[in-house]
Amino acid sequence: MANSGRECSAAEISKEKGPPRRPEFEALWRLNQSCNYRCEYCFRSGVDEYRQAEHPECGKYRPAQIAQAFDYTGKTWRIHMTGGEPFLYPDFVSLAKALTARHHISINTNLSTSNVYDFADQITPSSVHSINASLHLAERQKRKDGLERFIQCMLHLQKKGFNVRLMYITYPPLLSRLKNDLTSFRSQGISGIYVKVFRGRYENELYPAAFTKDQRALILSAGIPGDERAILQGETNFFGRQCVAGSKAFDIDISGNLTRCSAINKGYGNIFTGRYCFDEQASPCSSLFCNCPYQGLKFTQRKTYEVLSKLMRRTFDAFLPKSKQGTLR
Ligand code: SF4
Ligand code: SF4
Repeated sequence: MANSGRECSAAEISKEKGPPRRPEFEALWRLNQSCNYRCEYCFRSGVDEYRQAEHPECGKYRPAQIAQAFDYTGKTWRIHMTGGEPFLYPDFVSLAKALTARHHISINTNLSTSNVYDFADQITPSSVHSINASLHLAERQKRKDGLERFIQCMLHLQKKGFNVRLMYITYPPLLSRLKNDLTSFRSQGISGIYVKVFRGRYENELYPAAFTKDQRALILSAGIPGDERAILQGETNFFGRQCVAGSKAFDIDISGNLTRCSAINKGYGNIFTGRYCFDEQASPCSSLFCNCPYQGLKFTQRKTYEVLSKLMRRTFDAFLPKSKQGTLR
């Protein structure tokens, strides 16, 4: 194997039984490609060969084999399941059940399939970090009672004790209705609402850079969290910062291939075949562009970096004439 680092083996499997421990490793697993929606802003448009049919490698391994592959690393994982639409994965509820016996999961979903109710009945909420349910209003409105069914499903998961979040994307055509929509969802009992900054192209403009001053003020007034604020302000270049992607966090494709992250294609082997090795420690980010800023914001040692930058600025200021102090950024 090309990478240096520690190789894991079956000998490291934890023999512990019982509920999953606190996650030590993270994976963003793109487990399938097919989706029943056709959102016009979907990042897959134009690059997805398998939009109608599923990827041929999807479902190749049984749920128990997949869970065992994660167990064999000897670590507890938080597995972020994304697609495609993950609930369309063959026998998705069994997969979730197998994984949550020792690990934690989170899911990016459009929450449109009936097996969500089986999931709610069979999976322990404490093993599910979050269910990120994207609203995709235009697609809901194409379907009979689409929005009502989405709200009912959200409320059901909420009642069962899951950390389910309605993800409202600030797609430019939706901005005029953003505030009313949020008020309406809250009045219907939805407690977890997450306003997500749109990233992508709309009418030949690239967002979030193209948001106007007024649009930015509107988005900020909707109460977006810190990571979204950073994305809106374009603070998403992590080049040179220490990042745990490659040592404690990975991207996994449908076939089980591990890479450092969504932006850096460096391979770490294959989780399903049991042949892989991980870096022993964090290393500097080598990409000028972090494809998934959520990974960069989470995996870089941002706090340490910010404290160090502040210290450096103060040190430089001490040696500069008064008129030039505060110019170093
Ligand atoms: S639901 Fe998600 S994966 Fe499916 S088309 Fe919409 S954005 Fe793409
Ligand atoms: S900062 Fe982003 S691009 Fe850089 S290594 Fe980390 S996850 Fe990858």
